[in-house]
Amino acid sequence: MTEIIDGKAVAAAVKERVKQGVLELNEKGITVGLAVIIVGEDPASKVYVANKKKACEALGIISEEYALPESTTQEELLALIAELNRKKSINGILCQLPLPAHLDEKQVINAILPEKDVDAFHPQNVGRIMIGDFDFVPCTPAGIMEMLEASNIDVCGKTCVVIGRSNIVGKPMGMLLLHKNGTVTICHSKTRNLKEICLGADILVAAVGKPKFVTADMVKEGAVVIDVGIHRGENGLCGDVDFENVSKKTSFITPVPGGVGPMTIAMLMQNTLTAAKKQNALPE
Ligand code: NAD
Repeated sequence: MTEIIDGKAVAAAVKERVKQGVLELNEKGITVGLAVIIVGEDPASKVYVANKKKACEALGIISEEYALPESTTQEELLALIAELNRKKSINGILCQLPLPAHLDEKQVINAILPEKDVDAFHPQNVGRIMIGDFDFVPCTPAGIMEMLEASNIDVCGKTCVVIGRSNIVGKPMGMLLLHKNGTVTICHSKTRNLKEICLGADILVAAVGKPKFVTADMVKEGAVVIDVGIHRGENGLCGDVDFENVSKKTSFITPVPGGVGPMTIAMLMQNTLTAAKKQNALPE
């Protein structure tokens, strides 16, 4: 029998922890603030930003939303980031990606102060993840580690396979599993023998961006399968994993929706609280 990891429940527990942490800071006269910048009219980005705002409100985090027009210039965006970097009441800054094509994403990420970079995309934070000395981890991989822990899944010594090498999911995911003493393989679009590699996995993380890409013949009996993908189809949402058939073989599996998705915002809230504590020289 497979156990379906309930992302909503794990996310609720993280949020409760954050809410308590925010309250404790408030009692010391410290507020926690997150600034979210969105440029343009991308509908998916607007939904994500609205959800982040809602989560902040529920946890006592002050959220400031900066909705800028599509025509915003690089200079204007950098000027806003510089202002937010200086603003004492703002502990975390997040710029919703992707940005419109005329804007330089790399320069924008680099402009955010590393100590306010709650997405953990700044090269300084990425480097710190590499050496295992970090304050923030990108929210999706951080959420997956939280789910594994909540399910008492020990990574130590396990064969871990991550499909996908993006900077926001695949690569940091691999590093976090390695820090927990997993033996990690990161696969990508040029990987040969993907099926054979996946069949060796005790823990398989799918971050491919292709609906139902991971099929039952790629999964070892008793494996743990984590599905990062989100796809909106005719029959509602689905992930990168063929859940119906794969779940017949797994020991643990995450569903879509209700798996990794809810964790991402919860971990953003946690990173914002961590940022506030660090900026006020308080222990985590
Ligand atoms: P991406 O497009 O940046 O990366 C996809 C990766 O998959 C690439 O590294 C590519 O090499 C690899 N890939 C593509 N085709 C492959 C193949 N045939 N074989 C092996 N590898 C292949 O995507 P991303 O940003 O990492 O996101 C992945 C998925 O996760 C998307 O569906 C995205 O919507 C979803 N996502 C979900 C959350 C969440 O909160 N649940 C957060 C971020 C991303």
